[in-house]
Amino acid sequence: MPQQSDEEPMMFAEEDGASEQELRQDIWRMLIVDDEPDVHTSTKLALADVKILGRSLEFLHAYSAREATQLLRLEKDIALVLLDVVMESDDAGLGLVRTIRNELKLLELRIILHTGQPGYAPEIETIHDYDINDYKTKSELSRTRLYASVTSAVRAYHQIRALDQLAFYDRLCSLPNRNRFISLINERMAQPDHAAHAIAIVDIDDFAEINDALGHQHGDRLLQVIADRLSLTFGGEVAVARLGSDAFGILGPTAALDPERLVALFQRPFEMPGHTMAVTATSGLRHLSDRGISGLEAIKDANIALKRAKKSRRGHYMFFADEMGDEIRERVRLLQGLRVAMDSDRLFLMYQPQIRLDTGKLMGVEALVRWRNLDGQLVPPDRFIPLAECTGLIVNLGEWVMRMACHTLRQLNKAGRPPLRMSVNVSHIQFRNHAFPEMLAAALEDTGVDPSCVELEITESVAMEEPDFIVALLTRLKRMGVSIAIDDFGTGYSSLSQLRQLPVDRLKLDRAFVMGLSDSDHGGRIAATVVELGRNLNLTTIAEGIEEEGEARVLHELGCHEGQGYLYARPMELPALKEWIEAYEQKRSLVQE
Ligand code: C2E
Ligand code: CA
Ligand code: CA
Repeated sequence: MPQQSDEEPMMFAEEDGASEQELRQDIWRMLIVDDEPDVHTSTKLALADVKILGRSLEFLHAYSAREATQLLRLEKDIALVLLDVVMESDDAGLGLVRTIRNELKLLELRIILHTGQPGYAPEIETIHDYDINDYKTKSELSRTRLYASVTSAVRAYHQIRALDQLAFYDRLCSLPNRNRFISLINERMAQPDHAAHAIAIVDIDDFAEINDALGHQHGDRLLQVIADRLSLTFGGEVAVARLGSDAFGILGPTAALDPERLVALFQRPFEMPGHTMAVTATSGLRHLSDRGISGLEAIKDANIALKRAKKSRRGHYMFFADEMGDEIRERVRLLQGLRVAMDSDRLFLMYQPQIRLDTGKLMGVEALVRWRNLDGQLVPPDRFIPLAECTGLIVNLGEWVMRMACHTLRQLNKAGRPPLRMSVNVSHIQFRNHAFPEMLAAALEDTGVDPSCVELEITESVAMEEPDFIVALLTRLKRMGVSIAIDDFGTGYSSLSQLRQLPVDRLKLDRAFVMGLSDSDHGGRIAATVVELGRNLNLTTIAEGIEEEGEARVLHELGCHEGQGYLYARPMELPALKEWIEAYEQKRSLVQE
């Protein structure tokens, strides 16, 4: 018989004093449950010298289903139970089978049922549902039959264990893996004392760099010594698992899982063959205090805390707090809502007039996107634009805005009035999208607007990146006939030399430098500098966020050309805008008369 198990004791050969757990690698534990003491004696006798896959059997004994249940709760690694059906009651044995599978969740454990009375045989379905290996009447159980039955059950157990080992253990670090860690948490959550427990995810800082710099073998070895130290430090009632390449999971009583111990653990360097290495780790922790949390959710939450800690407390730790999850859930909800909104006309545009500061003439409008969610509330663009940007949704959203804005422009510019300009915000993500120029060209063409009436607002930070790329792109766009404004000007770090190269038409002074311009000169210097810069570069300037007469006056005195803000009008939907324009023009013509 091939002695497969020979290799296994080797794994522990380096350690003196193998623990009880490891010694069990040499035996198969078999539980005999029968209310007749004779059966215990005869079974033991019959199987005394048997070796299965090189290991002999160890016997445990219970004389009732109740006793067996208690024993199974305490004892680990039992391979097989030989079970009498009729004991304290006619179906005590079947009751125990249900307890084993459903309550104790001992799914690896193999079961052989037997009974003295043929009439008590379980149904085929029961045998199948409860994964019962064999059913025999006692008269059928000759020594050879018993031997054959036990052998095949133990082999089956061995196979199941081997598969589980693959599915639930990490070989490199000899630790439970992520799957196993999840079920360990679930098992813990099923216990009444789970609230006194916590989990931690310990992530090695810069492990990828270490791996690249020193080679994978070295990296593997480092993980092993870290795993060893984690197990040694926590050990006992705390479970350590390997969750991913350089992340470990720890589950244990809150009192034992002290994060300061984690930090301290990484303060001593790790001994590697030939040298020592200092590494740090960052941890995310989560209390298992909530009622219904699953293992998977607990890990997700700890990961959220870990990500936070990586950002702000590298080398330390952070506990998960409900708000962290709320924020992320909120973002996910928002994103789902936005996807729906884009498909169901819940997005719309508002338009805010732009006015010449010297004459008060209406020059154009800026299109500002709005989202009314299903509850009827307006979600501010400052919240959903960044989300649309980081998911790429902005490309479609931006195209929609562009087409809608052009469509409106076409309507506004129909009626014999001096043509208005339509300013459209273009996100940096959109701007970098290689298909942007084609998209713009198609939108202009399809709506039939005069391109010289369309202005793109790009932010200063975009305009200042990768000069070669930006200059080429802007040149191409300008050739289509559109004009270009640099939005939020003053908030970035433009260099004059760079700005000089850019084919742009307008600088848009950010709201921050307009606020309070009238009553102090705080910020006034920046406004003056921007206007001055514009003049030197031959660019017009427009100021956004003008709320007070005084601000408009100062800006005008500085030489700023145009203005936009609540002083003139709030952003309006198209019908309101049309009325506003009507009324505004009328008022102006009256004043001029
Ligand atoms: P922005 O381009 O700087 O737009 C100006 C913002 O200032 C608008 O906010 C506008 O409603 C607001 N505003 C106008 N006048 C005043 C004023 O007198 N006082 C004050 N306190 N605020 C004023 P809004 O509409 O909430 O837009 C916020 C930002 O969202 C915009 O900043 C822009 O960056 C972005 N955004 C809006 N629509 C679009 C869009 O269609 N595409 C892209 N990519 N971004 C957009
Ligand atoms: Ca803007
Ligand atoms: Ca702005």
